[in-house]
Amino acid sequence: LEAQLFRTQRLESIGTLASGIAHDLNNILTPILAGAQLLPLKFPDADERTQHLLEILEINAKRGADLVKQVLSFARGVEGKRITLQVKHLIVEVAKILKETFPKSIEVYTDIPGNLWMVSGDSTQLHQVLMNLCVNARDAMPNGGKLTISAENLLIDENYARMNLEAKQGSYIMVSVADTGVGISEENLDRIFEPFFTTKAIGQGTGLGLSTVLGIVKSHGGFISVHSEPERGTTFKVYLPAVAGSEMPICDNFIPPPGHGE
Ligand code: ADP
Repeated sequence: LEAQLFRTQRLESIGTLASGIAHDLNNILTPILAGAQLLPLKFPDADERTQHLLEILEINAKRGADLVKQVLSFARGVEGKRITLQVKHLIVEVAKILKETFPKSIEVYTDIPGNLWMVSGDSTQLHQVLMNLCVNARDAMPNGGKLTISAENLLIDENYARMNLEAKQGSYIMVSVADTGVGISEENLDRIFEPFFTTKAIGQGTGLGLSTVLGIVKSHGGFISVHSEPERGTTFKVYLPAVAGSEMPICDNFIPPPGHGE
């Protein structure tokens, strides 16, 4: 427990430091971006090479501004608006985006029961959780593969909660994002949720995806598990507490789960 606390404190100070730097960087990038956008308008007859250089300047200033935005939103922590929502709708929406934007070599499947319990959450943040996990899955399958998003209702009992420190007894929905990609080595598995940990090339990854995912899931009272086999694939499972009372019988023989709302 002590080690875990120490780790949390360390991550917090990384966050504080990062947000300070991000803030300053934002002030530096704003005039650079403004200049890069204004100059081509002021000099429409500039030679091709100059125009090309200005384009590169603008693209990179924008990339920097995006990165700064990510760092700031990560460090600011997450509160968000809470509404009672059906995660099935989010998954359907995300799957549609993936089918339109991911390479054709990646097959996208969904498997969601009709009676998935509701959760109380921020739909934008939960959308981001799913997108981040799916983008990582895509990056893990450079030669194509299979991405499956599935969901199920889950009752966590006393025994399970005892084994998993982060889980509390109660009803949850579990959303899993599984890929058939390169997998994660055991030594990296320990570090993937650390802010700025990335194995991707410079400019390809910020290392903030999973730490943002974890922050959002925790702020929703949930937790995450990861299972990975190098060369075979990775499955992330996100557990979110179900809204008490949303376990309404959809089918006639449904028995509502006990032990909630105590
Ligand atoms: P980034 O994607 O910018 O690198 P993340 O925090 O999202 O940052 O991920 C951290 C690292 O975790 C990745 O660089 C990668 O090594 C590993 N990782 C995350 N998801 C997967 C996955 N589905 N398959 C293989 N490796 C993964």
